[in-house]
Amino acid sequence: MDEFDYYAVLEIGRNATAEEIKRAFRKAALKYHPDKNRDNPEAEAKFKQINEAYQVLSDENKRPIYDRYGRAGLNSQGSSAGFDDMFGDIADVFDSFFGGGRKRSSGRHKESLDIAAELELSFMEAVFGCKKTLKYRYAKPCGECGGSGGKRKSCDYCNGRGQIYQRQGFMTFSQTCPKCNGSGNILETACKECKGKGAIFIDDSIEIAIPEGVDNGQRLRASGRGAMGQSGSRGDLYVILSVRDDPVFERHDADVYVQAPVFFTLAALGGTIEVATLRGKKNLEIERGARDKAQIRLRGEGIKSATSGRQGDMIVQIKIVYPKKLSDEQEELLTKLHESFGQEGTAHKGFFDEIADRVKGWFS
Ligand SMILES: [Zn+2]
Ligand SMILES: [Zn+2]
Repeated sequence: MDEFDYYAVLEIGRNATAEEIKRAFRKAALKYHPDKNRDNPEAEAKFKQINEAYQVLSDENKRPIYDRYGRAGLNSQGSSAGFDDMFGDIADVFDSFFGGGRKRSSGRHKESLDIAAELELSFMEAVFGCKKTLKYRYAKPCGECGGSGGKRKSCDYCNGRGQIYQRQGFMTFSQTCPKCNGSGNILETACKECKGKGAIFIDDSIEIAIPEGVDNGQRLRASGRGAMGQSGSRGDLYVILSVRDDPVFERHDADVYVQAPVFFTLAALGGTIEVATLRGKKNLEIERGARDKAQIRLRGEGIKSATSGRQGDMIVQIKIVYPKKLSDEQEELLTKLHESFGQEGTAHKGFFDEIADRVKGWFS
């Protein structure tokens, strides 16, 4: 069994949507369909791979397993043995698949040994960087059975072809053999060590220095910490960062937003308030008559982006708050205050009178 990358086989990116996967499958399957490539074992092999890739990537449950552990992770019940001939004729397969026109990346065979693990960070850990220990698991070929999963025999359902063919009129439809999942062979006796999986999973941990300013969804690569291939070399571990939200600060790239509640009388009079920044408290001037949702930018008080290196700003957005209740005395004071404004205090009146006059004009 050749080791190959499902995404590469379908010529799609690792973030391909379900629709893109379906489209890529149709295109590839049409090209390598046995009906179009009679007596062409190479095309048949490719058609098998395309089928297998599609069956896994179109399956919501199987795709994440594959993304994390590669084919080895899917090798329960002794289906295709993911570790056989890992470094065998893989180069030929990819060269022919891409027609030689596309340059094969030198690390292509390593791709399938790459694994991913998620690391959760608090908001502040992501902002300032930190040291973290990540516990994760990687697959290693079973030493007892050499990765085969046990003693294997030719699949009796498809006679070792990996495909079953059905004729309907003049068309032949092929389908990946459901018994051997296209590998052409099945387990006769499962290996006791790995219970037929062909791989054993090793618990490992790694110390990671998280740089300052990383963001949600960013990936860090720990080279040589992925799954182990038959030769003993290991792929890479991709650490996918998941940053928890902060109850106060909201991040947009390198900038940080924070809402500052300002009492209505203070907003009217202007004054100084104390705000929390990422690096401690700071005094902020509120101008007289500040409006609700007005934004004040504090230059350089944001995050130093790990990707662009830009030092972001902090943006304080004013939220004018009103008293929940008024005492009799406060109501009296406010009424007096309101009346003291005279005409200005009834600005709405003149405004709507004018509109009412205009509307009347249209309908008369
Ligand atoms: Zn084993
Ligand atoms: Zn079969």
